[in-house]
Amino acid sequence: MSTETYAKPLTVRAAQVTEPGGGFSVVERELPEPQPGHVRLTVEACGVCRSDAGFVNAGFPNVTFPLVTGHEIAGRVEALGDGVDNWNVGDRVAVGWFGGNCGTCPACRRGDFIHCVRMQVPGWAYPGGYAEAVVVPVSALARIPDELGAAEAAPMGCAGVTTFNALRHSAAGPGDLVAVLGLGGLGHLGVQFASKLGFETVAVARGASKAEAAKNFGAHHYIDSNAGDVAGQLQALGGAKVVLATAASSEAMSAVIDGLGDNGELIVLGATPEPIQVSPFQLISSSRTIHGHPSGTARDVEETLHFAALTGVRAMIETRPLDDVAAAYDRMMSGEARYRMVLTTGK
Ligand SMILES: [Zn+2]
Ligand SMILES: [Zn+2]
Repeated sequence: MSTETYAKPLTVRAAQVTEPGGGFSVVERELPEPQPGHVRLTVEACGVCRSDAGFVNAGFPNVTFPLVTGHEIAGRVEALGDGVDNWNVGDRVAVGWFGGNCGTCPACRRGDFIHCVRMQVPGWAYPGGYAEAVVVPVSALARIPDELGAAEAAPMGCAGVTTFNALRHSAAGPGDLVAVLGLGGLGHLGVQFASKLGFETVAVARGASKAEAAKNFGAHHYIDSNAGDVAGQLQALGGAKVVLATAASSEAMSAVIDGLGDNGELIVLGATPEPIQVSPFQLISSSRTIHGHPSGTARDVEETLHFAALTGVRAMIETRPLDDVAAAYDRMMSGEARYRMVLTTGK
């Protein structure tokens, strides 16, 4: 019997894009080895986020090709790099938008890791989760509780943490009126989190047909934005303490500002280059604020997963095998997904 190892490199399958705006092709890539302070994960599931289009189309700076995108990763630790002592092979983990931080920039020195100037996003700073394996720094890891499967956990790394973290750090307290603008990948989680956090929850979306789904997600009220005056309807409910704007529509965001009550906050999550329209008159006497919110750190992802396990909040997902990446991506882009596309590797 020989103990000789074969020189043939081990490979893993990955869905890559070779040029900006190009299509996906599933290829064999060399199995990546973890550097010091990193681990290799076996990817079980990876969510498909609208931000991935920003990388595929090179809309963000410094995107390199061939590109393997994907920043809603769930899987298990498979190999440890040198110096990794707080994680074990087999640990179930998620990695979201926050894929590591530098530790030395002014934001990191303040402990404000989400604003790290060199923050790493999987699928941008390094190959992401549209693959059977990824190598990530340990600072990116969030533990997955037993109650959540990999495909359920994956969307919590971006869509989940972004909505949960924005709401829990907002000005709203139990019983306050909180509106969630948009009922897509982020919005359907935002409504669930708002309801479970104890807010009087309003879902705002286009068309009467989404009312029933919104109620099922825990909304106490539904406003059809196609039917007219959203701000007036929010004022009729007492005025919103918070509007969580998940829809990437500056026009829709502008239209809700007058629905904010005193000290009300418009929290901007939906990414679009169009300006939000607001006059100083709308802000001054009611002390309203408008601010953005990026995401959350790995610890925030872990707390999001813990809260979901405790309360039953779940992403509603459509899963597709990695080989069907192009169809899954197109369905996400079309807005038809109900409500989050997740790729699975069968691993
Ligand atoms: Zn995302
Ligand atoms: Zn930093």
